[in-house]
Amino acid sequence: MARELSEVGVVGLGTMGAGIAEVLARAGLSVTAVDVSDEAVQRGRGHVETSTGKAVARGRLADAEREEILSRIRFTTSRADLAAAELVVEAVPERMELKGQLFAELDAICPPDTILASNTSSLSVTELAVTTGRPGRVVGMHFFNPAPVMKLVEVVSTVVTEPSVVEDVQALAARLGKVGVTIGDRAGFIANALLFGYLNHAVSMVETGHATREDVDAAMRLGCGLPMGPLALLDLIGLDTAQEILATMYQQSRNRRHAPNPLITQMTTAGLLGRKSGRGFYTYARPHSAEVVPDARTPAPGAVTEGARPADRVVVVAATAGAADALRAALPDGGLDVPVLLAQRVPEGGRGVRWTGEVDELAGADLVLVAGGDEPEGTRELFAAVGEATRPGAVLATTSATPPVVVCAAASGRPADVIGLHLAGRAGASRVVEVVSAVSTGPDAAATGHAFCAALGLPAVSSPDRAGRVVDALLFPHLNDAVRMLEAHYATADDIDAAMELGCGYPVGPFALLDAVGLDVALAVEQELYAESREPGLAPAPLLGHLVTAGHLGRTAGRGFRDHPSR
Ligand code: NAD
Repeated sequence: MARELSEVGVVGLGTMGAGIAEVLARAGLSVTAVDVSDEAVQRGRGHVETSTGKAVARGRLADAEREEILSRIRFTTSRADLAAAELVVEAVPERMELKGQLFAELDAICPPDTILASNTSSLSVTELAVTTGRPGRVVGMHFFNPAPVMKLVEVVSTVVTEPSVVEDVQALAARLGKVGVTIGDRAGFIANALLFGYLNHAVSMVETGHATREDVDAAMRLGCGLPMGPLALLDLIGLDTAQEILATMYQQSRNRRHAPNPLITQMTTAGLLGRKSGRGFYTYARPHSAEVVPDARTPAPGAVTEGARPADRVVVVAATAGAADALRAALPDGGLDVPVLLAQRVPEGGRGVRWTGEVDELAGADLVLVAGGDEPEGTRELFAAVGEATRPGAVLATTSATPPVVVCAAASGRPADVIGLHLAGRAGASRVVEVVSAVSTGPDAAATGHAFCAALGLPAVSSPDRAGRVVDALLFPHLNDAVRMLEAHYATADDIDAAMELGCGYPVGPFALLDAVGLDVALAVEQELYAESREPGLAPAPLLGHLVTAGHLGRTAGRGFRDHPSR
């Protein structure tokens, strides 16, 4: 039977510690909350007061309950006050020497059966355990930000952790209303090992000018249904903390996806730590505020549609009736009450296309949406035919993910007029349009694409003509990392999905998403990304290829990472 803990301590009352103290006090435990100085303690108390105050304002907590919660927390600067604690959770900065020293001190202050838990995101819990005389009573207890909201706790058990300690901590997690997932001691555990590779990748997109901070964040919120964009999330986590986590993970994995992007290191050095310092990727009204204020990098309103050409007459050209229907279904109701032409390739080695529908419509069109197949030769012929049938100045937009826009542009005979309008959005997430510019695209053609989306009320982001554009380029390597983790037997598909849903607020976990998207589709996207980048970290996980070969293609096939008997 698990031990029922009632007297606990929290050390370090910053972004995480204050929230952890609140969670423990909300569950009725008596909490000793420690930080280094009166100022830090006041700040920690302020966090708890603000957070519980908001809960009262939202009607989720009664005033009297708030008073009770606050009265259960004793704020102090003296670690000696932890002498009666049955469990201490530390949430001091992510530095081994700091935590190691603290654990050695706690070992001297607390009774021998006190459980010492670390909220570390990436450091070795085993290394921390051996700084004490009780390595069997040391665990990782990894909460997620914001601790009062996120439902996951990763319970990290080392090779020397006593099973009864894991049981006690799991029982406590359940009492706190959290889901505890028990795992081994590996840098980043489940959620951060997956999350930080993706966050780092998002930073490199901004650093290389692939996409703006606003577009990267909008693409992932709107295209994948994530609660926050990656750069806004990094600002919430803290750039210094992120830098430490990535550096530790890289040291262990030697995976370049974990090597901290230089921009993160530079921002940390410059004190641009995110919300806590008032400036990170975004600028905030004041330190610790969530309110974003405009800065020099905030785009001027209407900047992306500047120079747009009028697009009053829109025509859809599709290679098949199915492609035309899919395109119309993907756009808002009534948004495309426009002529549709089918263009079929001339059979038996002939060249060009055969039109079905009012081909004259093309001569007067301002914007032509072209839904070709994925096959490059057919798409080339389609764009050559559309280029010939339309007037110069009409914008031609490919709506297919492949081949690249530049292939369509080169075939059209007037490459400056060709853009991509790619409806991104995976597994039921609301959609976002990626307005894709090839090297040959003129700025007014891209502006026309943005103006068209704005007129339809569709959110749009700008993307270069690169494999996966923004959404898929960030999403699929992230999913691939999850498959690699499963392949390494570190965690089960259920635990990985739970970690990402409950710890990071994902609408669905990576394996549920892969099964919904289709494993064959995922493999094709990953192969394309890998072929373009040749990044070893982007090579598709062998397990994915094996499942595709075995016909486990996901939900529609009745079987993918999971069985779907009632397809
Ligand atoms: P933070 O910088 O916001 O807060 C750290 C707090 O520790 C500060 O209040 C500081 O005064 C205090 N502190 C420093 N040295 C101390 C000492 N010797 N004794 C007592 N208090 C001390 O950091 P954070 O973001 O809350 O991160 C804390 C831990 O939680 C790290 O291990 C981090 O990896 C982990 N974590 C962070 C997040 C996140 O999103 N920020 C999420 C999960 C886990």
